Amino acid sequence: MNPGKARGAASSRSFLSDQENVLRRVVSLLGLDDNVYEVLRLPERVIQVKIIVRSPGQGSRVFVGWRSQHNSALGPYKGGVRFHPSVSVDDVVALSMMMTWKNALAGLPFGGGKGGVRVDPRKLSVRELEELTRGYVRGIYKYVGPDEDVPAPDVYTNQQVMAWILDEYYRLTGRNAASVVTGKPKVLGGLSTRTYATGFGVAVVAREAAKRLWGTIEGKTVAVQGYGNVGYYAAKFLHEMGAKIVAVSDSKGGVFDSKGLDPEAVKRTKSSTGSVIYYRHVEKRISNEELLSLDVDVLVPAAIEHVITEENMSDVRAKLIVEGANGPLTEHASYFLSLRRHVVIIPDILANAGGVIVSHIEWMNNRIGNYITEEEALRILENKMSSNLAAVWKFWESELDPGKHTMRDAAYALAVKRVVEAMQLRGYM
Ligand code: GLU
Repeated sequence: MNPGKARGAASSRSFLSDQENVLRRVVSLLGLDDNVYEVLRLPERVIQVKIIVRSPGQGSRVFVGWRSQHNSALGPYKGGVRFHPSVSVDDVVALSMMMTWKNALAGLPFGGGKGGVRVDPRKLSVRELEELTRGYVRGIYKYVGPDEDVPAPDVYTNQQVMAWILDEYYRLTGRNAASVVTGKPKVLGGLSTRTYATGFGVAVVAREAAKRLWGTIEGKTVAVQGYGNVGYYAAKFLHEMGAKIVAVSDSKGGVFDSKGLDPEAVKRTKSSTGSVIYYRHVEKRISNEELLSLDVDVLVPAAIEHVITEENMSDVRAKLIVEGANGPLTEHASYFLSLRRHVVIIPDILANAGGVIVSHIEWMNNRIGNYITEEEALRILENKMSSNLAAVWKFWESELDPGKHTMRDAAYALAVKRVVEAMQLRGYM
């Protein structure tokens, strides 16, 4: 399995229908009317953008992108923008829906949104990438703003892309509003904490879950799939917490060492050679498929959606799965592993909320000019991640039946409840 490879339309469709299925089940679990599902399912708005990038010698190339604004009951739409060769409108809608629940569960004053452009940014020059980003903003800027919709980084987008979004928005509207986008470079009002926030949050929930299961994370073996911003930092912080990182991978493959890897050294290799597979001091190289089926305590899929499916779910041997990516397990696989194999799965909307939690602090800082420091942001993040995990775990055990319902059901139930309450108060239901 290569997480960088393009997936087919069927897979995008099933990603969206998985989201719809969880929602349908949770609506009935909460004893809500069936029409609540219909009211919550459809995004409020989906914008499609055609972007033309002109490059010397290559003529004009056309790209397509979207911004899906799923729900605004709790506040402005909030969520990242991904640049990925296989992204589809269905993916973007599914991911925006997921942001609605993620933000609600984290107690943030945001609705859910997500953007995507179908492109392989690794094949563009810096100038082309800037042109692409600015073209995307020209397509969506009328619907974006600090109180309307606040984009952020996601797969293959970074601080520089956020800086271009900020600037293009300024050029088009005359509003030099830093809070229109989060995940910016520090000098433009960003927080350096944002860079490692998602990975750090993943490590914190893994540590807290390990405490509940085994008393400690120390000495526990961990495999991490994906070595981008989420995977690398999750590995680094888990290593610092005393866990043993035995395997990591990226889109080219992975490496395994039963004695444990040094995440920072692996990162240096990836930065200089382009992949973790060139890291030398290892027992062996492994494929992504092998990584997912390692006999480890903790598995952190932090690459892309639907890497654990009906086809490979029976091979999974980890006891705890922490979803660093959005939707790395299909619904079916998640149910099978949770309920049949009793694997504890910390769902994405809980596990990877660290990024948007720090985005919220950045957005507040930009608006009030009263800067919350990096250290304070990190403390808020750590507290929020562990208290959110505790709240979901408690709800799962006391209000639901862990033999029949997954932790995802519990997380979604809490989130959907909040959104429904806000919609009722606004007069939508
Ligand atoms: N893209 C991230 C996510 O999926 C963060 C979104 C944000 O910071 O707004 O949660």
